Amino acid sequence: MTLIDATPDTSESARLYDVARQYFPGGVSSPVRAFNGVGGTPRFIVSGKGAYVTDADGNRLLDYVLAYGPHILGHAPQVVLDAITETASHGTSFGAPSEHETELAQAIQGFVPSMRVMRFVTSGTEAVMSAIRLARAATGRDLIVKFDGNYHGHADAVLARAGSGVATLGLPDSPGVPAAATSDTMVLPYNDVDTVRSAFAEHGQRIAAVIVEPIAGNMGVVLPVPGFLEALRWQTTAYDAVLIFDEVMTGFRVHPGGAQTLFGITPDLTTLGKVIGGGLPVGAYGGRPDLMRQIAPDGPVYQAGTLAGNPVVMAAGIAVLRELARPGVWQRAADATTALAEGLVREAAIAGIDLQVPHMGTMLTPFFSDRPVLDYTAARASHTRRYSAFFHMMLDLGVSPPPSAFETWFVSTAHGEKEIDHTVRAAAQAFASIG
Ligand code: PMP
Repeated sequence: MTLIDATPDTSESARLYDVARQYFPGGVSSPVRAFNGVGGTPRFIVSGKGAYVTDADGNRLLDYVLAYGPHILGHAPQVVLDAITETASHGTSFGAPSEHETELAQAIQGFVPSMRVMRFVTSGTEAVMSAIRLARAATGRDLIVKFDGNYHGHADAVLARAGSGVATLGLPDSPGVPAAATSDTMVLPYNDVDTVRSAFAEHGQRIAAVIVEPIAGNMGVVLPVPGFLEALRWQTTAYDAVLIFDEVMTGFRVHPGGAQTLFGITPDLTTLGKVIGGGLPVGAYGGRPDLMRQIAPDGPVYQAGTLAGNPVVMAAGIAVLRELARPGVWQRAADATTALAEGLVREAAIAGIDLQVPHMGTMLTPFFSDRPVLDYTAARASHTRRYSAFFHMMLDLGVSPPPSAFETWFVSTAHGEKEIDHTVRAAAQAFASIG
C-alpha cells in the first residue's frame, strides 16, 4: 500500500488497526508506530526471527526497526530466549535483590567502565529523569541544558524541542507540561560550541547538568562535530556541573563501549536502556560513585521501582552482553551497517538523488538532503515527503525501515550479506521510481 494508493486497504493489518483504534489513541502504545510520519497503515507484527519480522498478512519483512534499537542480535536469539525461559521458570519478580542484577552490572561495567555504580530502572525515560534529579540534588542547582532535536524520553523537564516521535509529529513541546517544568531547561542548538560557551559564561553558576545524545539518533543519526563533546566536558568541569551522556540509544551500538568509549570522553553520569534488556523493558543510570551514592538508601535522593532490576529482564540483558563480548560478533553488525550505508549512497548517486547517510557502528539514517546534516534545523530541512515515498516502496519490496525520516535505522548481527544486498537492490529500485 503506497501513499498515493486510494484503494481501500483490505489487509489483516488494516482490520486489526481499525479495532485497535477503538482502544488506544492512534491505535498504538507509542506514537511513532502509527505511521503518522509517513502515512498509511501500520503493519501488525506477529513474529520475528533474526533480521526478519512477519506481519499479520504473512509478509516477511527485513527489519531495520528492531524494536527501535534493543535487538542488536536480531529478533528472538536463542541465547536470549533460553535465558528468559530458564529464569522465568524460577519466578518472574520478587521485590528483593537477586544476583542477576549484579551480574548484569558487571557485564555493563566491562563495556562501559565509567558506570562504576549504577541503578536499574524500567525505561530510558526513567533513567534520564532520575539522572537529572540526582544532578540537581548534587549541585544544588536547577538549570538543565539540552540540545535541539535530542530526545531523552517523555519526562516533563526534557520534553522541550525534543526529537523522536515529537520530531515526527512536529510538536515543539507538549500540552500538559507545566511551564514551570521546562522553565529550567535551556535548549541549545546541537553541534554549536559557541552557544555552549556563551550559555556557560552567562549562566554557568546556575547549571546543574548538560544532557546530550553524544551521537544523536532521535532526529536521525547526527554525528557530533570534532570539539563539540570536548567543549561540553570542559565547560561542565569548569563550572562544577554534571555531564550526562544519554546513551539509551548509542550504548553498545555506536561502539561496544558506547559513544564515550568511541570518543574517549568520560561523562559523570550515563543513561542506558534498549540493548541491556534484550527486548524487555529496562533502563539504567550510573557513573561517578560520589554522585551515585547520593541515591536512596545510601543518600537522600529518592528513586525507586517495583519492577526495577527484574530478574527475567536482567537475564535477557546478560545473555545479550555475553554474546556481544565474543570476538567479532559486534563487528559483524557494524560491517553490515557500513556496507548498507555505502550501498545506499552509491545507488542514490546512480539515480541522481541527493542523499546523506550518516552512520556509526550499527546505526544509520538516510537523509534526502544535498548537504551534510549536523543539527535539527538541517534534519528538518531534509526532504521528508521523499522519505515517505521511499519508505512505502521499501515496504512493498519486503524491507521495513522506521516509519519516520527522523528515526535511526538499526542493524543487527543477523543482517548478513544477503540481507544487505537485498536492501541495497530494493533501495536502487525505490530511488529510480521516486527520482
Ligand atoms: N533517551 C534516548 C536517547 C532515547 O533514544 C530514548 C528512546 N528512544 C529514551 C531516552 C527514552 O527511552 P524509553 O522509550 O525507554 O523511555
